[in-house]
Amino acid sequence: MDIWPIGVFASVDAGLGVKWDVIKELGVPTIQLHAPHPSKRDQANAEALKKQLDEMNVRCTAVFGGFEGESYADIPTVAETIGLVPPATRPSRLAEMFQISDFAKWLGCDTVALHLGFIPHDTKDPHYEPIVAATCKLCDYCKSNGQFLHLETGQETAEGLLEFIAAVGADNLKINFDPANMILYGTGEPIEALRSLSHHVRSVHCKDGTWSKKPGETWGAEVPLGEGDVNMRKYLETLHEIGYTGPLTIEREIPEDPLRQKQEIGAAIELLSQLRSEFWESE
Ligand code: MG
Repeated sequence: MDIWPIGVFASVDAGLGVKWDVIKELGVPTIQLHAPHPSKRDQANAEALKKQLDEMNVRCTAVFGGFEGESYADIPTVAETIGLVPPATRPSRLAEMFQISDFAKWLGCDTVALHLGFIPHDTKDPHYEPIVAATCKLCDYCKSNGQFLHLETGQETAEGLLEFIAAVGADNLKINFDPANMILYGTGEPIEALRSLSHHVRSVHCKDGTWSKKPGETWGAEVPLGEGDVNMRKYLETLHEIGYTGPLTIEREIPEDPLRQKQEIGAAIELLSQLRSEFWESE
């Protein structure tokens, strides 16, 4: 079935995704790939990975940018270290994103994605405009490679993201919707957010989490799919309702325990396959 092909978040040598051999074992038709280390982002390496994916019958649906020095240790550290938001590293990271866009093109992938970081909530904040400008440049670059740029949700409210997308004004700027992040960061009810962002959602993560006792100050907890506060049935029902037919990419970030990661992803694949057959059975 071409609707809602199941996928996993994967990595070759960097990032928290499942490893290459696990993709094969799980037998999923799609992945999103965390960009490899800078030294591996050349055309030859991209083409070698593409060949491996073709042999496994796996399609890469997005390449995610990530950078040295990023840390998700706690919410204040995220604000200081993630994405294109910290001014000191913005120029070098923007250059890296151009490199990642080229790498994705060689891989035959039309989508580049990233956590942009904590965009100031106040659009009059002096830091706001330079982030908009950097995102514009990145969108232009991706466009020259025939690509979309997807922003991972989490650190902004739906309203804040809509304002930001309007400020950038690029038709290839879209959203990778992650319902668990909205809960983990305490930025809003994910189902409601999905509805209000629906026109901009071009890829999604299937991840679950529980609310923190102090939303926005401390993390909630990431938990196996179906065991958190997202409500997977409602999530998929809403994706169906807004007409989303793209991949369902499972993200489970417990690289410290690969065996448990694989088991939990296996269970997540079952859950999503079951729900998918319920929602699309009669169509
Ligand atoms: Mg995510």
